[in-house]
Amino acid sequence: MKTSFINDAELTFAHELLDFIEESPSSFHAVETVKKLLAPQGFQELSLNGKWSLTPGGKYFITRNNSALIAFSLGLGEPEKHGFRLIAAHTDSPAFRIKTLPEISVEGHYLKLNIETYGGPILNTWLDRPLSVAGRIIQRGESPFSPKTRLFHSDRPLLVIPNLAIHMNRKVNEGLELNKQKDMLPLLAQVTKDLHKENVLIHYLAESLHCLPEDIIDFDLFLYEAEKGCLVGLQQEFISSARLDDLAMIHAGIWAIAKVNQSLSTKVLACFDHEECGSTSKQGAASPLLSHVLERILLAQKKDREAYFQALEHSFLISADMAHALHPNAGEKHDPSNRPILNGGPVIKTSANQSYTTDAESASIFSALCHLADVPVQKFVNRSDERGGSTIGPISSTHLDIRSVDIGNPILAMHSVRELGGVKDHLAAAKVFSAFYESV
Ligand SMILES: [Zn+2]
Repeated sequence: MKTSFINDAELTFAHELLDFIEESPSSFHAVETVKKLLAPQGFQELSLNGKWSLTPGGKYFITRNNSALIAFSLGLGEPEKHGFRLIAAHTDSPAFRIKTLPEISVEGHYLKLNIETYGGPILNTWLDRPLSVAGRIIQRGESPFSPKTRLFHSDRPLLVIPNLAIHMNRKVNEGLELNKQKDMLPLLAQVTKDLHKENVLIHYLAESLHCLPEDIIDFDLFLYEAEKGCLVGLQQEFISSARLDDLAMIHAGIWAIAKVNQSLSTKVLACFDHEECGSTSKQGAASPLLSHVLERILLAQKKDREAYFQALEHSFLISADMAHALHPNAGEKHDPSNRPILNGGPVIKTSANQSYTTDAESASIFSALCHLADVPVQKFVNRSDERGGSTIGPISSTHLDIRSVDIGNPILAMHSVRELGGVKDHLAAAKVFSAFYESV
């Protein structure tokens, strides 16, 4: 059933998002998917360990650790006068990471995996679902300092974390307490004669990657929900999917930067890793990665540090990370007067104590961009007795002296294995990002 509430362009763009998320089961895959989308648009990869030669109007990107990416379209103007237009989002989502030596035998019958939580997932949403494994494995290279990285993504469900039957936990519906080390370990296999005695997972990885088990030195592997997202609601108005936070903002950002027209300012899309655990890695928003890339863009144009600082003064950052929509069953959890809804448009996030970078001036800039893009805009403030989450904006601000606003599309069930967003909001955010990059 299709109604005039959701138009064809919105439906198509929401389906493109679902495809993008399906192809991005880990932050490593998200970067790979972004590269695949940028390449046909003329973006060239730059090496971080070589000198850059840039052409005005040229499109480039760099990656860090295979899990963060910064893309930019070089402006035609003087950088110290026209600055940067930046959008920042994150490639990672809460999940479970497979520990080293992960196999645990259960009474000689089952094999389960030892895992640790990554970020803050809602634990119970991961129970009883077909799960799979994605990330990267590291193989021996020519020298100790040049190991080979290969992405791995199982194309079928491999694991499940089973609930305990209600008969063995009669109080389950009075509140479920789950221990991360005891209750969340996924079942991988039935132990049989044909199963390798040791290193079952490594043998499986080696077979899948057509290499020898001994060539796999280490891995960064995560669990993910095996089932693809879908549209739900009577009018197909909602998006039910894993990792909307924050792949939806990355997807909207790519759409905007891929179609950007050449103009005076340099447009930048920063896709950071490790937001969900505090951003403090070399590929996170708390690293000098972005400030170094921006400075190198100026150095490559034979500009000095003075010009770099002037460029920052002429710059603006949109920190794009998802926001909370009004919950249909828990209205009391929200601020009494600022109550964003699904499909009501992108949300400006404000906090008196600066857990968001937004101030009245940067909020007014974002509102004006929404107006320009003909998109509605909403506002979010935490209930005064609730502590909100953190995001990339304030962390970037401690490293980059740039005016900025924190925004995001409204979703429900943030950090559930399956979050719920609005179909209209997704195209709306992309249109605002485009207006941001294009406006003078
Ligand atoms: Zn987020």
